[in-house]
Amino acid sequence: MQDFDRFLLTVVYDIPNLIFVVDPESGRIVYANPSMHERLGDDCVGRAFGDQFPGAGGSHCFIGYKQHAVEQEQGPPQQTEYYDDESENWYHVQQRQIRWIDGTAKIVCVLSEINALKRLQKDLTEAHATLAFKNRELEISAKTDRLTSLYNRYHLDQALQTEYQRFRRYGKPFAMLLADCDHFKEVNDTFGHQTGDIVLIELARLLQANLRATDTLGRWGGEEFLAILPETGLANAAQLADKLRDKIASHDFPVVGRKTASFGVAEARPGEDIKELIARVDQALYLAKNQGRNRVEVNS
Ligand code: GH3
Ligand code: MG
Ligand code: MG
Repeated sequence: MQDFDRFLLTVVYDIPNLIFVVDPESGRIVYANPSMHERLGDDCVGRAFGDQFPGAGGSHCFIGYKQHAVEQEQGPPQQTEYYDDESENWYHVQQRQIRWIDGTAKIVCVLSEINALKRLQKDLTEAHATLAFKNRELEISAKTDRLTSLYNRYHLDQALQTEYQRFRRYGKPFAMLLADCDHFKEVNDTFGHQTGDIVLIELARLLQANLRATDTLGRWGGEEFLAILPETGLANAAQLADKLRDKIASHDFPVVGRKTASFGVAEARPGEDIKELIARVDQALYLAKNQGRNRVEVNS
């Protein structure tokens, strides 16, 4: 035997990969290297391949017997992954048709254990899922007001832009209302900041509970709340504001009892920008305050 042949034989012998040759006609193993013998037992040669690796014989890639032999002639090696229940190992499988010593077509199969790779894949998949979850959490927290859990100013600005584009492009009307708690400073001064917080949370809940799902409510500033009301005209928006005003005025707030709020209402007008619309709703609110509070004023 030539030195080089001896070297090749040593490789096949010493390599930890499972190497075996299958006769595609009979499905029997005609050669198995020592690693393969270790896995299947010394009498594995001559046994049906399908019995040794249940499930693998039926797979298109991992030894497809005759069908494989015909399809894959001269073709590149086929690859797949296979989990071996018996040894609890993951294998990368490569197989290709070869000409055997006797000139017949056989299939040589090399199995490389890839448990570490599979573990890494699993860890990566998990890390990816965690990251996606964290991203979603971040996305939500970026647009949420921490105290009231309503949308924050940042998101309201974005929602306003979106609604405004819809109005300009498709003529979809929308209105806005701005609510401001009356004499809120007194709550803090009399009962403390913590009670003030509780009142704000309760106010937010009351407003949210009485708006439609399509409306966008958020905290505009300290004790001010802004609602964007799509597909709503001025009259309906004013009516809604008055309903909210009434709900607040008749609500028993924890610790402080009764509180009221004033409202400004405005509808988007063609030709004005968002700043102007906000200024008009602000003016209406200012007027409501000046007119004695616990009331709704409309900027028409
Ligand atoms: P007005 O009827 O004119 O609206 O009077 P007001 O007292 O409600 O208005 P003012 O703007 O004088 O006071 C608002 C107060 O809201 C002052 C501020 O300390 C308080 N405030 C703002 N944000 C918070 C908060 O997150 N928690 C608490 N507890 N208070 C807040
Ligand atoms: Mg205010
Ligand atoms: Mg106020």
